[in-house]
Amino acid sequence: MSEREIPASAPGIAVDTIAAISTPPGRGGIGIVRLSGPLSAAITAQLVSLHQPLEHSRARLADVLDEQESGREQIDQAVVTYFAAPNSYTSEDLVEIAAHGSPVVLDLLLRRALNLGARLAEPGEFTQRAFLSGKLDLTQAEAVRDLIEAQTLTQARQAASQMGGALSRRVAPLKESLVELIALLEAGIDFAEDDVDVAPKTEIARRIGPLIPPLVALEATFARGRIVHDGLTLAIVGRPNAGKSSLFNRLVERDRAIVTASPGTTRDLVTERISLGGIPLELVDTAGLREAFEEAEQIGITRTREALADAGLVLVVLDATQRLNDEERKLLAAVVDRPALIAINKSDLTGEAEPAAFLQEDRSVAMGINIPVLATSALTGNGIADLRERILALATGGAAAEPGLLTSLRHQQAIAAARTALLDADRANASGIPHEMILLDLYRALWALDSLTGQTTPDDILNLIFSTFCIGK
Ligand code: GDP
Repeated sequence: MSEREIPASAPGIAVDTIAAISTPPGRGGIGIVRLSGPLSAAITAQLVSLHQPLEHSRARLADVLDEQESGREQIDQAVVTYFAAPNSYTSEDLVEIAAHGSPVVLDLLLRRALNLGARLAEPGEFTQRAFLSGKLDLTQAEAVRDLIEAQTLTQARQAASQMGGALSRRVAPLKESLVELIALLEAGIDFAEDDVDVAPKTEIARRIGPLIPPLVALEATFARGRIVHDGLTLAIVGRPNAGKSSLFNRLVERDRAIVTASPGTTRDLVTERISLGGIPLELVDTAGLREAFEEAEQIGITRTREALADAGLVLVVLDATQRLNDEERKLLAAVVDRPALIAINKSDLTGEAEPAAFLQEDRSVAMGINIPVLATSALTGNGIADLRERILALATGGAAAEPGLLTSLRHQQAIAAARTALLDADRANASGIPHEMILLDLYRALWALDSLTGQTTPDDILNLIFSTFCIGK
């Protein structure tokens, strides 16, 4: 079954040739100018002096010549790789000219390509062409962007798996069953006189039923997918001297590095991005709130709330050597409904003290709190590994890593819309509503899934009707 309409290269649609510098701005060992479209090879032949003719999937040496009044002079040597349509990323003729990564040379190549008839590519246009030609579906095209933007290896793996079609593969069988059901109902309506039986209620219910749990399961993956994709912010809060900065540094010391540090401090808050189990986590140290905390209680509370506002997770740091004070009680009350952890820090100073016992000192707080408590020592490092694990578990909500996670709100909404529409169809069927009406719900579900992976055409459905129901044989 063909899943897409009209490829960009369909007869009658003029496709121009686009060009762009595909490597990042700046100097590097190699820089690439990429061309895609029918004139790619012809433009390249004029753009550089090839040592051998272009051949599909072969690298060719070429001289890059600088044209001056005094004559042509070699300015660089490049490796040119040609991919003939349709066996290229975009399904069009595509050329990659890998010169040395000098912005001046790359600019020269690009400008000349434009003079020779290419058009400057829009951002993402190569991938858009891959999508339009049916080489990639939408989720795969989105994954290309995600892979490029990945900040942790886990993000890159997730994007690569989506680019390889992991999400599409989870959706495809559901869509196939749905299209079959639609074809069944359409056949019953349109070809009643051809002895096509009208599907009984039980048969329709039997077919809708199994489509719903996989959608629910897929939707549930968004909890983890979103976090892998977007990361989370962890606010470290507590009274002055509890050890917030020390814990912050402990968490940062091993896990920093992969991602770039956020510059300096924001709003008196020190922030740092780390990769915890592959999940990008922005740590926010509220040690800067010290003064506020010591000033009027009102200001302290306001500033802390501000710090908490953007945080997905909260780490409350308590000092094992101190009794809870009023601010801390308020803080605990404020985070009680949020994903939070309590670290009883400086546990090295209190010996074996059981962390929960610490809170039970003040039963009114302990009773209302269902936040995991653990003992840490930023000084000795005790409990830090445990802290990392608990933060990770809290971040992922315990959801496992699996292929084909939903990573964007767009995906999640499409799946939710499909699920709702199927539930509506199921209800409509149960109450004996005419098939024309049930079909409306089923089409709604199909469009939602289509918005993820690409369009189902009326032809797809008709073909299925004809191939399965032997109409007019
Ligand atoms: P903050 O104000 O909450 O950021 O606290 P700091 O991290 O600046 O720590 C305050 C003081 O407590 C410093 O002198 C730290 O060396 C000390 N400290 C922090 N964590 C621990 C710990 O786990 N054990 C001990 N014994 N001292 C600690």
